Amino acid sequence: MPQLARHAVRYASTYSSSAKVAFYGIGNMGRGMALNLHKAGFEVTAFDPAVEARNAAAAAGLRVASTVEAAAEGADYIVSMLPTGKHAVELYLGQSRLLSRASSAATLVDCSTIDSHTARELGAAAAERGFGFLDAPVSGGTAAAAAGTLAFMCGGASETFERAKPVLGAMGKKLFHAGPAGAGQVAKACNNMLLAIHMIGSTEALSMGVRAGLAPEKLSEILLASSGRNWSLEVYNPFPGVMATAPASKGFAPGFMTDLMVKDLKLALDAAESSGLDVRMGRLAKDLFEEHQRLGHGHLDFSSIINRLGPRAAD
Ligand code: NAD
Repeated sequence: MPQLARHAVRYASTYSSSAKVAFYGIGNMGRGMALNLHKAGFEVTAFDPAVEARNAAAAAGLRVASTVEAAAEGADYIVSMLPTGKHAVELYLGQSRLLSRASSAATLVDCSTIDSHTARELGAAAAERGFGFLDAPVSGGTAAAAAGTLAFMCGGASETFERAKPVLGAMGKKLFHAGPAGAGQVAKACNNMLLAIHMIGSTEALSMGVRAGLAPEKLSEILLASSGRNWSLEVYNPFPGVMATAPASKGFAPGFMTDLMVKDLKLALDAAESSGLDVRMGRLAKDLFEEHQRLGHGHLDFSSIINRLGPRAAD
């Protein structure tokens, strides 16, 4: 889909504004994103049904509302970062009825990773009520969410993308307008299928080398300087102890949960099926992550898939 890469825009996260933002979903990703909006000068009010998430956000300095409605009051932008499409439909169209509560001038940006069909449905429902709506899933993980260096891949009207740029630019470094409603989610499904495949490949290569007597740090250094280099090795090394900042060195605390990776791989496989493509590596990655989830590791970071390979040589 060549048009997906057409509108790459680099945007420094230096924008400052006093516009009002209602932020929904302040979990692992959303908290850092909302804080960056706050730091950039936006007047942010956050909501999350989970009390722990609200308390953590308040402790970090965010203003927190106790209802969907209170957060939406007078908002120029509505940003959401929710687990699944079901949660997004519930927030915008279901019991929470955000589309009925938001100010008619608000621009809506859903950053959750959901299926492109639901994203199109939300875009159409928002357009019917006169709102600009973007599906704007992200790449980069929790460290990038906290640092404000996410990549956004957006689907929706060009004018809505332009209007959302100040908000997106405060949370990310690379903004892409992938195409019309749903196109951001298509790009995201492609990315996460590839991420799952190179994460599994990296765990196998590292485990194999370590089992054969190499030090994981030295092997990682060699791979990073060679053609096996990839994002999993660069910033998210799955071998415990190699990279202090990676979930693998923190007991596999997420990060990006296995449950969410399984969800994303199902979305990718659905997309492949509807295009009539046989994506065998993607299917295998889905099967392996599903097995890992069934074994009770759904709440762990997805890099814990390395534990499938058994005890390490050093253990
Ligand atoms: P999370 O479970 O930590 O956070 C989601 C939050 O949304 C939770 O706190 C939940 O209580 C809240 N929520 C649910 N329904 C809500 C509603 N109606 N209103 C307001 N809040 C609601 O998940 P996460 O890791 O932050 O991921 C969020 C999204 O970002 C997912 O779609 C995920 O696939 C995607 N994503 C995650 C990562 C990552 O590294 N964690 C990276 C890229 C994309």
